[in-house]
Amino acid sequence: MSPSDLLQDLYRDLVILVDSTDQQIVAASKSCEAFLGYDSLLGKNIEEIECALMDTFYWEEIRSGQIEPREHIEGMYLCADGSVVSVDKNIYPIAYMGRNYLAIQLTPTDSEKNINLDLERTLAVLRATLESTADAILVTDLDGHIVNFNRRFAEFWALPEEILQQGRDSLVYRSMLHRFADRKAGRQFMEQSLFAREEESFIILHLRRNRWLECRSRPQMMGDQILGRVYTFADISARIEAETRLQEAVQQAHAANRAKTEFLNHMSHELRTPLNAILGFAQLMQSEGCAPHEQKVDLILKGAWHLLGLINEVLDLAQVESGKIVLQCEKVHVEGIVHECLAFLNPMAEKYQVSLQPFIAPHSCIVEADPRRLRQMILNLLSNAIKYNRPNGSVWISCQASEEHWIINVHDSGVGISPEDQNRLFKHFNRVGSTQHIEGTGIGLAFSRKLAQLMRGDIQLTSTYGKGSCFHLSLPRVHAVDNAGSLPPTTTTKPISILYVDDDATNRLIVKSAVKRLPNALLDTSETGTGALQKLAAHSFDILIVDMNLEDMTGIDLVQQIPDRSQSAVRFMLSANDHPEARSLARSAGIERYMTKPLNIKEFLEAIEEVRSRLHILP
Ligand code: ADP
Repeated sequence: MSPSDLLQDLYRDLVILVDSTDQQIVAASKSCEAFLGYDSLLGKNIEEIECALMDTFYWEEIRSGQIEPREHIEGMYLCADGSVVSVDKNIYPIAYMGRNYLAIQLTPTDSEKNINLDLERTLAVLRATLESTADAILVTDLDGHIVNFNRRFAEFWALPEEILQQGRDSLVYRSMLHRFADRKAGRQFMEQSLFAREEESFIILHLRRNRWLECRSRPQMMGDQILGRVYTFADISARIEAETRLQEAVQQAHAANRAKTEFLNHMSHELRTPLNAILGFAQLMQSEGCAPHEQKVDLILKGAWHLLGLINEVLDLAQVESGKIVLQCEKVHVEGIVHECLAFLNPMAEKYQVSLQPFIAPHSCIVEADPRRLRQMILNLLSNAIKYNRPNGSVWISCQASEEHWIINVHDSGVGISPEDQNRLFKHFNRVGSTQHIEGTGIGLAFSRKLAQLMRGDIQLTSTYGKGSCFHLSLPRVHAVDNAGSLPPTTTTKPISILYVDDDATNRLIVKSAVKRLPNALLDTSETGTGALQKLAAHSFDILIVDMNLEDMTGIDLVQQIPDRSQSAVRFMLSANDHPEARSLARSAGIERYMTKPLNIKEFLEAIEEVRSRLHILP
């Protein structure tokens, strides 16, 4: 016999048999299953279908061993369709075959009571939902009278208990007004937002003690009818505080970056000035032949150029990082620039016993780039290809066109770069592989890639460890062919007159000594701007070279006051300030060439010759 046999005689009654040990339903009369709407109640735990609080207490007692019969107690049962029925129930303990059971006999109570219970339950669920949300909720009617709010609302607005108990709208609103950091903003919110009529409104409220609430409101709809308005308030104080901290940190970082850039600019200027004397005189000594000190002068020059390179790199990096770099992009023939770079690096290639292959590019290989910076990028890639090569290795450049770009490939048969190192390569100061002993700073590649990206291009790498690398520099392609090329150098000895204005005697001496090298070049100098203006009024000069900071005026002021007589003079600036802003200021003042100190004498003399050759062919 099974426990269900116990119910055989009770098939008309609503009876459930529960094992008192685990509260499992072991049998239920068919009429009971039909009443609650279940196909079978077997195997369910009784607490799954009972929902009155008293039931829970009763089963707690059963579990603690107090098995007592109960009569006429109220119970609530969850039906299969989710509805709840209320019943009157009796519970009888039954011992059967050594086990304890409880027979629960149910008698339905009237249906009106059931409906009320359903309603109560629905309201309780709604209330629980309202109270369980993380946001504060306020519901008003169309006239702004408070209909409902949850506990969070009282918490967020710190509404005192007595106001909550009185429940008067005016007191609640007044108390809310007191919480605003700014009364005026509070009043505005009360007058406008709290009685808003539009579909949806959103406002951020600043409360006292630096608390911030985000308030959203929408009409409360029942079908087509608007009943009132529902406001939700979310506490966003933590988010605002985090945002404020972030903003402050960003501002501090910007300020620190600006300070760093200014410091570097200043330092760069300060370092360049004495370097000008070192490099200037050492170059002059070297070219004049300075036996028995030749080797020492070479070393001075090597060290000083290296130092200058470092200063320039650090400054460039600071500028690109602070977003201050100014590019002067124009159409550039790649071949010309690559040839210049190859020629410049020939001595280095010889030193490293690396052969530089000749480069031929199609005439259409023209890119949109800043020529000075393009030269800098190619020099960086080429010098790396030489440095990180092997004796008897080679370096060659090829180029190919894509729809939008020209890609300049710098190949080497050098040490190559492992795949892991390739990922680290373009970050500042990262020097990779076994190359650390070779002179370098780890700035060049990162800087070159940033430059290329600023010019709407990029630098990519393919490399095989142990075999060699290829850096691909891509730059925007210029489709229209432009015939403007650089003028061929001429070797004329037509006289050329130069006026050089600088308040520093050392600088004047260096320039004087350098110009002496040129045939038929006449140099006059002036210490001050006023002195220069007088000379310019009296004579005409082919070239006027000015320093940026003179004692009585700036080089720009001087250029702007050039008297008619010397208007046609080609203007150069020779300054220790390598800042892009200074360059563009000079450019807009009509200064054709901006050269920096320390002076590269070779380039300086070439620039003068270039002007001479132009004057020569002009009518
Ligand atoms: P630097 O040469 O001054 O160290 P770069 O930024 O130009 O700085 O290069 C960063 C690093 O990338 C180098 O230190 C070197 O380890 C590696 N590298 C660059 N070019 C090559 C190359 N062609 N072959 C092998 N390694 C290279």
